[in-house]
Parts: sequence; C-alpha cells; structure tokens
Amino acid sequence: MMTDVKTAPKSPPAIPSLRLLGVRVDSVTMEQAISSIAGMVHSGKIHHIIPVNPEMVMLARKNAQFREAIERASLVVPDGIGVVYASRYLGRPIPDRVTGVDLTKRVAAVAARRGLRVFLLGAAPGVAELASLRLRSEFSGLIIAGTYAGSPKPEEEAEICRLVAEAAPHILLIAYGAPSQELWIMRNRERLKVPVTICVGGTLDFLSGAVRRAPRPIQRAGLEWLYRLIQQPSRWRRMLALPRFAAAIVMNSLSGRTEREHPAQ
Ligand code: UDP
Repeated sequence: MMTDVKTAPKSPPAIPSLRLLGVRVDSVTMEQAISSIAGMVHSGKIHHIIPVNPEMVMLARKNAQFREAIERASLVVPDGIGVVYASRYLGRPIPDRVTGVDLTKRVAAVAARRGLRVFLLGAAPGVAELASLRLRSEFSGLIIAGTYAGSPKPEEEAEICRLVAEAAPHILLIAYGAPSQELWIMRNRERLKVPVTICVGGTLDFLSGAVRRAPRPIQRAGLEWLYRLIQQPSRWRRMLALPRFAAAIVMNSLSGRTEREHPAQ
C-alpha cells in the first residue's frame, strides 16, 4: 500500500556534527538530545552517548581508541563551554552546553515517567548509592535497577557485566572518567546489550553532593571549569588542556585547515 506523503510519519531531522581538531561533536540541544535518547531506548539497537569537553578533544587527538569510541557514539553532546566557544569561533555555533549532569537529570525525569530502569556504575564506593537516593527523591517513581562502584580494570569486567546484565537496565550511566569509561563500554557493549549507555564522568559526584556544582550565575558566565578547579585543585594539570585546546583551534583556523562536517550517526 502506498503511504500518503502528507500523513507519513516524519523521521527526526538528522543532527549535524562538526569537527573540533578532527574530533566529532554534535550540534545538539538538550531537547534534541533527550528526544533522541528516548527513541534509542526502544530502537532494538545498542547506543552509547558521550558528552565531550575540550580536555577530551585533546585526549582523543592522541588516543585512537578513544577517538574511535567518540566516532561510533550515537550522540556526542557538547559538554564543555570551550567546545561551544570553539564552535562559535569557527562559524558553526553549537546552541549551548549539554552537560553530563543536566543530561542525566533530564534522562532520569524521562525514565521516571516511562518506567525505564537505570543502573549507576562507577565513582567512589557509596557515591552511586547516594546519587541514586538523590535522584529517586527528585524524580518520584524512578527505578534504579542497581548501583555499583567497581573499577574499570579489565579483571573486574566479567563480574561487572554479570551484575549489570542481571539488573537488565534500559539505561546505564557509567562514571569511570574519560577515557576509561568510553573504552570500557566499547569493550563490553555487545555482551551487556543495554540499549543506552551514557558516559557521565564526574556526574555521580555532583548528584551525590560529594562535589558541589558551580552556582547558576557562574555556570552561565562560562566559568564552571574555574569553580571546579578551585574546589578540586588537583585537577590543575589536566586543565592545562584548556589553553592548549584554545590555541590549537586558533592555530588550525589561521593556517586555513577546515574542520570538516560529518552527519551524526
Ligand atoms: N572513577 C572511578 N574509578 C576509577 C577512576 C575514576 O570510579 O578508576 C570515577 C571518579 O570517582 C569520578 C569519575 O570517575 O566519579 C570521574 O570523574 P572526573 O571528574 O575525572 O570526570 P570528568 O567529568 O572530568 O570526565
């Protein structure tokens, strides 16, 4: 039977992605990310989602496996403000940040409404449990299928995979930091068969209250990275990636190298 063009269901518009120093970032808003993730849960396929910041772009330039994990992601959301600034500088402005914490909360809200099961993996012992308590009190009806700290060490993989598979979540939030969490999910996604995995980095630390998030005005001023540095000064070395990222973006653009566009997968 022929489908009437006027009544045929519209497929969602493709999400454009851009390249920052050769690394993929999708130009996606929070609303688009949420509706895309909601669709992934029942797609019958396995998806992973990576929020990307400038530190991760710099890391991905040197680490081919990490770059591949980003390349194969179903969605690469613009986490860091530096990524947004770079996109503006290159004339391909990404609308705004989609941070791991904000994305996680929005995903939790959808999960609570739709009865989707969420598993929290990673962070220091006890942190995922606390994050789970906070999420459940904020999003009533949210089903936390399980929590487990563990570690990204290969010798723990079999046991962690068994735990997660037994809990059969629709959504797995993995918090082992970049690039461990992305490499972990690349190694284990086929045997886990969880529909959606989101690599959330330090999100569980924030959700549990172990680390305080910058107040809104500081976030809006694009200074969340500075607030975090003051709270966790041990991060100074990794944060050197920020000026290096900015310099590389400017140098690349001045030398006329174009950042090619690729359709999101
Ligand atoms: N982490 C972990 N096991 C490890 C290394 C890191 O559970 O072997 C956790 C750590 O406790 C933290 C998260 O991974 O909750 C990474 O946080 P970070 O702030 O480094 O992540 P970012 O958001 O910067 O990627």
